[in-house]
Amino acid sequence: MNSASGNQPELKRLKDLRLSNKNKFKILMNYFESQHDKNMNTELVQAELTAYPIIKFFQLMMKDHTWLKEIPKEKLLEINKFIDRLIHINNQVTNEMEKEDNQIEIQNLSNNQIKNLLSIQVNKRQDIPKTWYDVTHIKILYTIIVKIPGLKNEREKKIGEITTELTEKLLEETSEDSGSAEEVIPGFDSAKVRCSSTSERIKVFNFLKKSKPQWLIQIPPIQDPQVKLSAVRFDEENINLWLERLFIKNRWKRCWKACIKHFYKVGKLYDVILEVDPALREWIEQRNGFVSAGYKRISVVDHFDIKQCRNCTRFGHLANRCSQISLCPYCGGVNHFHESCEIKDLPHKWKCPNCLKNGENAWEIKCAKFQERLLHELEKKNYQYKLIMA
Ligand SMILES: [Zn+2]
Ligand SMILES: [Zn+2]
Ligand SMILES: [Zn+2]
Repeated sequence: MNSASGNQPELKRLKDLRLSNKNKFKILMNYFESQHDKNMNTELVQAELTAYPIIKFFQLMMKDHTWLKEIPKEKLLEINKFIDRLIHINNQVTNEMEKEDNQIEIQNLSNNQIKNLLSIQVNKRQDIPKTWYDVTHIKILYTIIVKIPGLKNEREKKIGEITTELTEKLLEETSEDSGSAEEVIPGFDSAKVRCSSTSERIKVFNFLKKSKPQWLIQIPPIQDPQVKLSAVRFDEENINLWLERLFIKNRWKRCWKACIKHFYKVGKLYDVILEVDPALREWIEQRNGFVSAGYKRISVVDHFDIKQCRNCTRFGHLANRCSQISLCPYCGGVNHFHESCEIKDLPHKWKCPNCLKNGENAWEIKCAKFQERLLHELEKKNYQYKLIMA
């Protein structure tokens, strides 16, 4: 009985290359649940470690930030201890272990290194390109949109505010475990409930759905990260072949998804926007934002759907749709083109027309208004950004 419970047929599936990371993690979590509080049978565990790359996948799991966010902290610490035990058992094997993967030398990882993997902190790299910037300080919240049918604007209050009040009241006055939200803020015709993690969001979402079936409650769609390849040779007739070559050239894993979202002709070359697997986005970052395309190394940047108007400098639309008077990005003035702005070359006199900060112009990444937009975009991505490749 005892040995049968240790025999994990599911572990075999870890070797299946078609299996998504998410499913691998499920298998690992099952393994963890069934084993962690047991006095593990050393021989059996050794056999399992030899046959299946369990430790390797646990380590990969610890690097997968999207997944980690969903696991409570106490559990992470337990998993950490559990990996320790596995490694300890693994080290007892004196004979040559069959190496599943040469890339990860489990034996060389110290306790602390594994703890570091757990700590969800960025390993600040020294050599990152100068234009990249760190976004680890940005607190990302996970939104639920609440709309209440039939509400009308009142004299004192708008629909968004009324919805916010009713939602707050509902969340506050329940005695159930309804999950916790960080804040409820009014939208135009809705309330936005913002939670600190995806798991809290699911709880709150289910609670709201159950309590108010007549309300419209939605989780905004989440999409994979997007990147832009600039100035590449591209054949509009054969876009799939082009993508195929990119995979081959860079030896990307077949299980990584990538699809071409847009392409724009710039002179003879093209800018191409790809939506990519989170793991592929990570791969690009690890290589300092370069991929091989054709015979060249091409620089890649993160792409977000932030529209900023070249004419009026405002966000949310492009110049071809602009109906505003043009604003100077350096001084906010209305009576001159930016090329002829008197303070164009005097940065200390600039004043951003959007956030009104002195010493900045409207195109700065640091701009508070831009950061607001960026945050909104980050919350829609199935990826935990630490650095933005810009
Ligand atoms: Zn405009
Ligand atoms: Zn000006
Ligand atoms: Zn600004």
